[in-house]
Amino acid sequence: MPLTFFGGIKPENNKISKSPIRTVIPDIIYIPLEEDAQVIVEAGDSVDKGQAVAFSGNELKFSSVSGVVREVRRDQDRHYIAVKNDKKDTLYPGLKGVEKPLKKLSFEEICKLLREFAIVDGFDGAYAYKKLYARPEGLKRIIINLCEADSYASVLHRLLIEKPKELVGGAKILMHALSVKKCILVVEQSKKRDIENLYQYVNDPSMFVTAFIENKYPVNEKTIMSAVYGLEVPYGGDSLDLGYIFFGAEAVIQIYDSFLTGIPQIQKAVTVSGECISAPSNLSVPIGTPLKDLIYECGDLSGDCGYIVSGSLFNGELLAGIDTIVTQYTGQFLFMRETKKKEGNCVRCGRCISVCPMHLPPLEYAVSSEKGRDPGERDAYYGISACIECGCCDYICPAGVPLLAIIRGVKRKRKPTEEIVRHSKRKLLRKRVNDLDDDVFIPF
Ligand code: SF4
Ligand code: SF4
Repeated sequence: MPLTFFGGIKPENNKISKSPIRTVIPDIIYIPLEEDAQVIVEAGDSVDKGQAVAFSGNELKFSSVSGVVREVRRDQDRHYIAVKNDKKDTLYPGLKGVEKPLKKLSFEEICKLLREFAIVDGFDGAYAYKKLYARPEGLKRIIINLCEADSYASVLHRLLIEKPKELVGGAKILMHALSVKKCILVVEQSKKRDIENLYQYVNDPSMFVTAFIENKYPVNEKTIMSAVYGLEVPYGGDSLDLGYIFFGAEAVIQIYDSFLTGIPQIQKAVTVSGECISAPSNLSVPIGTPLKDLIYECGDLSGDCGYIVSGSLFNGELLAGIDTIVTQYTGQFLFMRETKKKEGNCVRCGRCISVCPMHLPPLEYAVSSEKGRDPGERDAYYGISACIECGCCDYICPAGVPLLAIIRGVKRKRKPTEEIVRHSKRKLLRKRVNDLDDDVFIPF
């Protein structure tokens, strides 16, 4: 029997993009910058793939293609470096793999390398080196998530099939760095055969344990802890408080690749899917590639595309248009038909309560909202701030109560200046690692 957790939903299988991962070659890339970035190239300069072009937000930024810097834009609302791709794929000559044997690398050396490789874990949006620094005393296990973000995503499945050796290698680097003896691979039961294939690259089977969990949404730090260990992540805390550290499979693979080649994270694996894209695909995309290039790669949009989502269908970010790029945080783009969801009043069916993985009563938020009361006013009792914004209640509601919008409205009102982060786990981890900023600066 697969492991499971309370609540969640089992959406129909929409995996229409099971294609092997293929590489996108853009004409031009846009490297986003923070306002106070130090740019170390200028328009007209030639750059190589993997070459550092800026120091932005305390981190290095790299060109993901070789070519010529076309523009360095630093105006009020836009900050980026545009690089025209010469399509020669010339690698920066200064890059080389790590020569020192893993066993001789210290924790500090590994963190320094991870920082130089600028690896961001898409699982929680944090830099890998910062996650390592945030480790608590007595860390028990590393948990690697191989479960997809939703029923459309399939890129982690493809990575498991195409890069099992790299996944095992990256996990070993993390285990050595964190002095952890066992790594848990969390995967949907439907990927059983592929995980068996991975074990051919494992020399010591005692180092790895696979936890098969039910094909259900949402799979995140909290639901995994509940399904695998029966533990509840305390409100206001995260899994590190319980002695477990999470990594996404793609980041683990990237760590191995970067140690082997010296190439920083300049590519991102992305699923492009949905009802309105001709050829749904899994793609390896240079960071900074415009979304329009991905649409072109996938055979264009059908005419009735009503909305575009970046991230999961249930709680991803609705995009205003296609004027966006692939970043280290991108995991999926969905092109969906407009659906006319009727919006009505709560009929007190209780289905939202039965699917809430956080054991919250979304019904109460619906009723409060209908009555013109603040749905967050009895937070201590109804716990709206513990909501992880998974959207299960919104999805299941037969009356079309816009529960997710109500919840986000409450949160936005409380913190008007703070960006509403889609997953509370991400928010918690970011807070934790951002607190470390001043302490962990490593000079290059
Ligand atoms: S699922 Fe919708 S209709 Fe049913 S109790 Fe919840 S909010 Fe009300
Ligand atoms: S969005 Fe919040 S309230 Fe709704 S099911 Fe998810 S955790 Fe529960």
